[in-house]
Order: sequence, then structure tokens, then C-alpha cells
Amino acid sequence: DTALAWKPVEIDAARRLRVVVIEFMARLAEKLAHANESLAKSNEALDAFAYIASHDLKEPLRGIHNMSRFLKEDYGHLLPQDGQENLDTVLKLTKRMETLIDSLLHYSRVGQLELFVEEVELNSALEEVIEALNLRIAETGTQMRIPRQLPRTFCDRVQITEVFQNLITNALKYNDKSDKWVEIGYLDAASEAGTALRTFYVQDNGIGIEAEQQEAVFRIFNRLHGREEYGGGTGAGLTIARKIAERHDGRIWVESVLGAGSTFYFSLPQGQA
Ligand code: ADP
Repeated sequence: DTALAWKPVEIDAARRLRVVVIEFMARLAEKLAHANESLAKSNEALDAFAYIASHDLKEPLRGIHNMSRFLKEDYGHLLPQDGQENLDTVLKLTKRMETLIDSLLHYSRVGQLELFVEEVELNSALEEVIEALNLRIAETGTQMRIPRQLPRTFCDRVQITEVFQNLITNALKYNDKSDKWVEIGYLDAASEAGTALRTFYVQDNGIGIEAEQQEAVFRIFNRLHGREEYGGGTGAGLTIARKIAERHDGRIWVESVLGAGSTFYFSLPQGQA
């Protein structure tokens, strides 16, 4: 045994080294905690800023929109064709800007609302989402697959319902196949071993997302398609879903093959939060 062969001076050095390492780790942990705290604070400040900025932007924007509308109604007939078209463009752009600001407002609100965590019967939440999307499901002829009942889960019901709604809406939207399907489920406990997380998924056989874009889709206002393609959108849905997952100490990500389909996963801590 080599330890027995250690000389007292070596044992002393080892002890001192241990003390130094422990002190170093303690200082590191303190620094990390501090960094975490200031990150949380700056996130909060950013949410508050986004909220105030978007709220204040709405009023002048509405003014511009209304004035342009009056101009069109009262004097539109006096303008030449291209003048009328320009005025219509102003009206369209102000409407679009309002939609973007509303998304930003909603995003910052999600960050500011307190989480209300309780044990949630996710099946009824899912039913509500599907019910609300029934018309689109029928129009697109999408087959909805729910292989098994979802487990009861500790989470904020309203917010997790919103995550399901965003993911399922996208799964219905970004699909060009003739036989469309969407599957909603959760992973087996075995594949979650040691993680203390429960992972849900929304899978589609739609257009898919290329590897380089799979992280970018979670960035706000980032869309991979033209404004009018696939029914439009603001590009905030996945950013909001990510914020909700992270506020639950969970995470959200996508696995996808371009042209074949996408699976969006989100995991939530299993214990009581
Ligand atoms: P929106 O749908 O309003 O554009 P999202 O944040 O929900 O905004 O999505 C961002 C982008 O990610 C979409 O514009 C689309 O290009 C892509 N995307 C989202 N979900 C899917 C999906 N299920 N299949 C393929 N692409 C998707």
C-alpha cells in the first residue's frame, strides 16, 4: 500500500493541497452563484424593458395606423394609383408591426408572470388544445395520434397548455404531405433514468428543419419561410415555448430530418417543484 509508505512531510503537503482545493472550489461555487443571480436579475430587467418598450410603442403605432386610415378614407381618391398603393402598404405594415409588438408583449409577460405549479391532469389540457384546433385539423386532414394517456405532471397548467398549443399548431402548419399525422406522447421512464425529468414530444411527418436551423428556430422572430408561406406567423411561438420550459427548469429541443418530419421534445422535472 503506497499510502503507508508516505513520509509525514508528504502527508502534510497532501493535506495542505486538499485545503487549497476545497477553498478554491468554495470560491468558485460562490462566484457561480453570484453570476447566476446577476443573470436572473438581468433576465428580469430585460423582460421588464421589453414589456415597457412594447407597451409604449403601441400607442404611437395605433396613431399612425388610424391617421393613415383617415387619409385613405378622406383623400385616397385624390391620390394617383401608386400613392394609394403606398398608403395601403403603410396600413399593412402597421398591422404587421402591431402583431410583432403583441408577440413581444406576450413573450415578456410570460417571463414576468409567477409560475403557478400544481399537479396537472395533462390529458384534459391536451384535449382542450386539440378541441381549439379542430377546424384546422379537419381542414388539413391531419390524423392525430395519442398512443397513450399522458401522466399527471407538476407544472403551470396554463403555460404548459400554451407549449402544447404552439407545438401542435406548428406540427399542423408545416406539413406538405398528403397523409399528414401528428403524434403526441412522452418517453418511457427507462430512457429518463437518472434525469428526474419527464420528456414529452410532439412529432409530425411534415417538411422538417435542416440541422443548421434547428437551434435558430427558437430565436425570437426567426422564421425559415416567407411571410405568406404556410399560413404566416410571427416567429415567437417557439421562443415563448422555450421560455416556459426553462422557467420550469426544463428544456426544449428539436430533432428533425429535412423533408421527413420533426419531433419537438420538452422535458419537465418530475418531482413537485
Ligand atoms: P411561427 O410559426 O409563428 O413562424 P415559431 O416560433 O412557432 O413561429 O416557429 C419558428 C419557425 O420554425 C417557423 O417559422 C418554421 O419555419 C419553423 N418550424 C416550427 N415548427 C416547425 C415544424 N413542426 N416543422 C417544420 N418547421 C417548423
